[in-house]
Amino acid sequence: MKHPSGQCVFCGGGRLTKEHIWSDWIRDFVNTNSHVQTSQSSLHNLAGRIALTHENSETRMGAMHQRKVRIVCRRCNNGWMSACVAAAKPVAKQIISGGLINISPKEQESLATWIAIMHSMAEYIDTESLVVSASERSQIMATKLPPNSFVIHIGRYSGVGWRPMDYRHTALTEAIPPPLPGPSALRLTDNKIGIATGVIGSLAFHVASSTHAPFLSRFNNACLPSNMERIWPLRNRPIDWGTVAVLSDLDLGGIHGRFADLTRS
Ligand SMILES: [Zn+2]
Repeated sequence: MKHPSGQCVFCGGGRLTKEHIWSDWIRDFVNTNSHVQTSQSSLHNLAGRIALTHENSETRMGAMHQRKVRIVCRRCNNGWMSACVAAAKPVAKQIISGGLINISPKEQESLATWIAIMHSMAEYIDTESLVVSASERSQIMATKLPPNSFVIHIGRYSGVGWRPMDYRHTALTEAIPPPLPGPSALRLTDNKIGIATGVIGSLAFHVASSTHAPFLSRFNNACLPSNMERIWPLRNRPIDWGTVAVLSDLDLGGIHGRFADLTRS
């Protein structure tokens, strides 16, 4: 997919290159042969009820990890992004292949940054439901960390339905109801929250992002994923992965579906 402005979504520079959304080395750890992989995006109104305004779903034979987008420049891709990916790779490949390790705060930070970068790129599968803002992306580039407007969890996936890779993204947009009952339409504001749930092998991840503080606190109060470990904002304690609850397909579907709680006022 060609990014309309032709500018790198992280630094604003030119000379875009077609790059993998998901780190290329994942194929060494995840068997992607003869599987169907999905990524979904949908946009809902957030107005006390769900009104589906847009849905995009792509199901592809073959490897989701091969999905590419032309939204980043060569300098970003080969520079700071590649350094962030390399920092996360040792711990990520352990979790993806089902290893039961102790995950240090530093490793959690690297994982969170890697997931934040992939999530910011994966949103471009469907540009209608973009939530992460340009300033949040430049923050990732400047700090090599997820922005404070992100909440990231990871979990131990044991199901089959999301394997070997899956990514489901939902964008919720605030909508102001019409002043009088009648045919006039809801008015959409710029306030959004994005919820994404994904799987890579045995790693499940969940990202919520919103620059609108009331949405993020509503998420933190009502929709935190159960039986997943928060790695951003950082909790500064190691995670003993072997003692973390295991997530089935039912668990993970429920976790992603909890965004519906945000639509109830
Ligand atoms: Zn760039």
